[in-house]
Amino acid sequence: MQQTKKERRFPDAQGFFGQYGGRFVPPQLESVLDEVEQGFRSAVADEGFLKELNRLLSEYVGRPSGLYFARRLSERLGGARIYLKREDMNYTGAHKINHAVGQALLAQRLGKTRIIAETGAGQHGVATATVCALLGMKCTVYMGEEDCRRQQLNVFRMKMLGAKVVSVQSGTRTLKDAVDAAFEELCRSPQDTYYLMGSAVGPAPYPEIVGFFQSVIGQEARAQCLALEHRLPDVLVACVGGGSNAIGLFAPFYDDPGVRMVGVEAAGRGLDTPDNAAAMSLGTPGIVHGFRCRLIQDENGQPRPVYSISAGLDYPGVGPEHCYYRDTGRAEYVAATDDEAVQAMLLLARTEGIVPAIESSHALAYACRLAPEMERGQIIIVNLSGRGDKDAAEIERLYGSRL
Ligand SMILES: *Cc1c(COP(=O)(O)O)cnc(C)c1O
Repeated sequence: MQQTKKERRFPDAQGFFGQYGGRFVPPQLESVLDEVEQGFRSAVADEGFLKELNRLLSEYVGRPSGLYFARRLSERLGGARIYLKREDMNYTGAHKINHAVGQALLAQRLGKTRIIAETGAGQHGVATATVCALLGMKCTVYMGEEDCRRQQLNVFRMKMLGAKVVSVQSGTRTLKDAVDAAFEELCRSPQDTYYLMGSAVGPAPYPEIVGFFQSVIGQEARAQCLALEHRLPDVLVACVGGGSNAIGLFAPFYDDPGVRMVGVEAAGRGLDTPDNAAAMSLGTPGIVHGFRCRLIQDENGQPRPVYSISAGLDYPGVGPEHCYYRDTGRAEYVAATDDEAVQAMLLLARTEGIVPAIESSHALAYACRLAPEMERGQIIIVNLSGRGDKDAAEIERLYGSRL
């Protein structure tokens, strides 16, 4: 399946999805974001740009990713047939490379020579450093000092790829401070620099751009399901951190009302504890990182610290398009705990020989709950957003003695 011209109706001209999204930034960033938006509109209308994007998705990333029928898992659970969209098979092991390649090409088209990004656990930093090496662009990744310490291997991977890693010393020295540092740098040198966003979040036009580059997932899955089963799936399930892998799967099914969409957030140690990251279930409308969304916040509107076993789901907000889908009832949002995710991860490993990322395992955990309640002929597609090699050490630390 090829990325083709843009046909989505969202967002509106100001970048809003209903009441969510928009652009809440200092005045000096307005013109920078306008330039990115114009560049994006012209890029997606240009056959040459789409051709180069599709070439890299195919030859470098390894697309299309498979739609795999998990026969033994489905039999074990009873009920619906479970298919896995294998984003774990992409080069670098997750879906993030899809929007990293797309945005790096966009940056090049805008005449930028340098890319900056922020990263928490380092996965987005590694994907960004990878595409910068591929396209011969300078790369600086901002990472909180605390995260650098916890994720030394990813820091080193970025350095191997030629990126500069800036350890951010301010605030709590984690992701939020790294985001602030990256925006400050963008304000300082807007001429030559492109800020490569890591999820379907941030000020307009970023949620739309990331959604566009990730929608290849749903376009492929839709065509693959029709080819294999001669019908559309009944339910789509994807994990939601910022929301990029989920919106990539969901958006191309938006106009198929018979297809249910379920986003799964991190319930951490439980929704009745403070240790979770379930912005849909427990958040309220607020502003973070330049956009409006459902947010886990304190009385002063500041994002509250959130927790999940999975670094990729550990975000206090959630992408604006998902907030809109939730309010209009087009998609549902549920949550899975750390323990449920680990159990689902081990179940898939042992029934299919596939070790999913702990993030993706949250989606799988919900599919495991749902499948037995469905009919045998029905179909669930689970987005397997990444592979679990990166999580082995942490699972061993927390659960090793029980394996
Ligand atoms: C980063 C990450 C996520 C969460 O990000 P989204 O933008 O919500 O998709 C999910 N799965 C994997 C494997 C990740 O690396």
